Amino acid sequence: MPAYMVKAFEFMSEQFGRYPWPEYSIAQGGDGGMEYPMLTLITGKRKLGSLVGVSVHESVHSWFYGVLASDEGHFPWMDEGFTEYAGSKVMPHLFGGTADPHASAYEGYRVLMAMPDHEPMSVHADHFETNRAYGITAYSKGEMFLQQLGYVIGDTTMRQGLLRYFNACRFKHPMPVDLERSMEKVSGLELDWYFDEWINTTRATDYAVDTLFTAGDSTQVRIRRLGGMLMPVDMKLTNTGGDSTVVSIPLSLMRGAKPAGSEHFPFTSASPWSGGTHLHVARARYLDESRTVQRRTSGGYGSLQRQKREHGTSARVQGKAETELGSRARRWSPRYLL
Ligand SMILES: [Zn+2]
Repeated sequence: MPAYMVKAFEFMSEQFGRYPWPEYSIAQGGDGGMEYPMLTLITGKRKLGSLVGVSVHESVHSWFYGVLASDEGHFPWMDEGFTEYAGSKVMPHLFGGTADPHASAYEGYRVLMAMPDHEPMSVHADHFETNRAYGITAYSKGEMFLQQLGYVIGDTTMRQGLLRYFNACRFKHPMPVDLERSMEKVSGLELDWYFDEWINTTRATDYAVDTLFTAGDSTQVRIRRLGGMLMPVDMKLTNTGGDSTVVSIPLSLMRGAKPAGSEHFPFTSASPWSGGTHLHVARARYLDESRTVQRRTSGGYGSLQRQKREHGTSARVQGKAETELGSRARRWSPRYLL
């Protein structure tokens, strides 16, 4: 147990900013786990993974409420959500594994989107209609907020931005705009729209490939926004020979594209779109015959049914050559990269 926690603190200090205090104590007691400055109380009689898991979560609060003393009443997602996000990075560092560490947050978010009592993240922690909606919003949607922000500006840029935020706001009381400023500085992008959409609305992230067809030596792909949430789209095109390329389509609101080298995979930036429909023309053939495909891409929120209504036809998957949104995350995930 001590060896795991030392490794966790070293990882957190490297990835999210230096732990500034000389020691940290983990004591058995209390109910579940509860964070305090330089101390957490946790219940015992757990298996090692559970014991480390709760200890990681509670100790990561030292960064998000401890050093960055955000207001967890007004902005519970800046406390619990950020702690969940960082904890999800720590656990595979300790135990290995290739599973998506944010999978449970995606699942929570999917459940939340279907709940009638889903409320915006801007609601005060004490004023949610239901405790369940508060919990999923603060923990899972808060984690999703950062994970999706990494999708918008690029994962490596995200890491730089979180370190910049930590160093700029340590021992202060940061507001959401302080995080926004740090992320805009490192990315060179305008991000006010992202903060507005995620914090102040309950809109769904749901996009689809509308049509795909060949024209001469090129392939044209039309993507369509089905949900209310505005987001850029990364799209992976795989040609009939099996070669793939990733195209990142930024929102016009971003006033730029995510920086080159900001992801762990190569990509090219396409012309921006406004979030309605967008026609992308690829200078290669990705189909061996002209055809139209309609398929659900991000899925999970009724998009398939809506597509059927809109187009009067069934969705089907193009088998040989296809565009694909979502291979990076789970099928229903709103982080549809290719
Ligand atoms: Zn917590």
